[in-house]
Amino acid sequence: MPRDSRTSTFSLSVVTPMYNEEENVDLFLTKLIAILTKLTCDYTIICVNDGSTDNTLNKLLAQYKKNSSIKIINLSRNFGKEKALTAGLDFSQGDVVIPIDSDLQDPPELIQDMVSQWKKGFDVVYATRRIRHGESWFKRSTASFFYKLINAISETPIPENTGDFRLIDKRVINAIRQLPEEARFMKGIFSWVGFKQTSVMYDRQPRNSGKTSWNYWRLWNFAIDGFTSFSHLPIKIWSYIGFTISFLSLIYALILVSYVLTKGIKVPGYASLMVVILFLGGINLIGLGVLGEYVGRIFIQVKRRPLYLVRELWGFERDLS
Ligand code: UDP
Ligand code: MG
Repeated sequence: MPRDSRTSTFSLSVVTPMYNEEENVDLFLTKLIAILTKLTCDYTIICVNDGSTDNTLNKLLAQYKKNSSIKIINLSRNFGKEKALTAGLDFSQGDVVIPIDSDLQDPPELIQDMVSQWKKGFDVVYATRRIRHGESWFKRSTASFFYKLINAISETPIPENTGDFRLIDKRVINAIRQLPEEARFMKGIFSWVGFKQTSVMYDRQPRNSGKTSWNYWRLWNFAIDGFTSFSHLPIKIWSYIGFTISFLSLIYALILVSYVLTKGIKVPGYASLMVVILFLGGINLIGLGVLGEYVGRIFIQVKRRPLYLVRELWGFERDLS
């Protein structure tokens, strides 16, 4: 019989990716540790330094020397948040694992609520944002549009207004470890694995310090990753568009032929010809582009490169050499 960790004391790993967070490290860890010590659990905080170019690593090392619960994974370069998070999840050992942003946008106070939901028997407790302070109208509406669209076409629904901040049971972590995909669209992955999920609500605060590393170009690529990883509709739809256009063309051809047979050849038609050529040319290129997105991803995947590379570890028993 496995030990029932939900009723006895349990171990908790917090995973936090950090990219240029020198001004947030100290405050974040102080707040987090204050919350974690109140819970009756063994906790570890896994900080993943994702190739920061500022003083983040030194600040982390100073904290590591003060608190034995802190562990550090130093990646060899910036791999992006999703992969930094994957690294942290791979190294985590707790009965529950909690990924959390290190800029204090995800309130650590919520961890208590999450743990009590987990004790009730849920395997994933995700945090849903009630309001999003400090985000522009444009960002909020594009985000909402993105979720509507992806939920319309993806097989597993992705809850709107959630980030990566959630509590995840060890069983779910083991399931996630089996997914080898390069495109780590974590929100999609979390929902794809299933298990018993529930949510707790919170108000999202603006960043404590520094600025978001997600510009619109990065968000756009992130959205494409989301679509291509969790739906084949964008690539399948082209055959339907092709069929429809071919069918309409056939009808149009029949009309034209009967017109020529009954009324003779009429030469003018430059405008309509140009429209048809340009329109179909455009459609062709879009179709090719979508195909390219998928082929490119297949190419990246078949190279089977590791998702991230670790330069140094602090606080882990695992040896790198
Ligand atoms: N982050 C990271 N690698 C990156 C970009 C961001 O590890 O390349 C971390 C960052 O330090 C923070 C979290 O991911 O802890 C969320 O990043 P950010 O605040 O920039 O995103 P937003 O909150 O705007 O979605
Ligand atoms: Mg943030």
